[in-house]
Amino acid sequence: MTTLLPYDVESARERIAEAARAVEIRLGPNALALAAARLPIRLSGGEADLVAAAVLTVLGDDLRQAQAAWEQGGAALRTCLLPGCTRQFDLIASVSGAEPAREIWSSAGWMQHRALGGAACPDHAQALWASGQHVPQWRREADDDIRLVCECGWSSGEVVFRGHGITLWQAHALEVLRSP
Ligand SMILES: [Zn+2]
Ligand SMILES: [Zn+2]
Repeated sequence: MTTLLPYDVESARERIAEAARAVEIRLGPNALALAAARLPIRLSGGEADLVAAAVLTVLGDDLRQAQAAWEQGGAALRTCLLPGCTRQFDLIASVSGAEPAREIWSSAGWMQHRALGGAACPDHAQALWASGQHVPQWRREADDDIRLVCECGWSSGEVVFRGHGITLWQAHALEVLRSP
């Protein structure tokens, strides 16, 4: 599960400007003559390369940091099982009792559901499961007919595989949440 943080343009601009300000250019006689005549000076090819290299160093560092943050946090994040919900919690931090890297990845209020093989964020766990009304269970109707049946009476009907039943229940949950 990837979580791309919005790129912080303001802070990147500051760091790039700082890197650009650190570039030192020695003005040659031509540039000095232009300056004396109050004419604008353009960077030479070599000088522009120096500035470009300074900028690329900043961007490269940003990229490496973003990659490291993703490798640390990305693999452990679990997303709410309600389609369209983007809330996530850090499974490893939750199991180990450690603080998640970011506060929004806290597992507080999340509920796991074994039959669905997933977890719901606090809002959706509250809306669907707090009353016990939409807690689904697998029920064997016949040897080759296992259905997902919701506490409210909804049933998946015959399913072809486990994920089929879970997807149908997700659609049921969305209907429930949509209805007033
Ligand atoms: Zn959710
Ligand atoms: Zn239901």
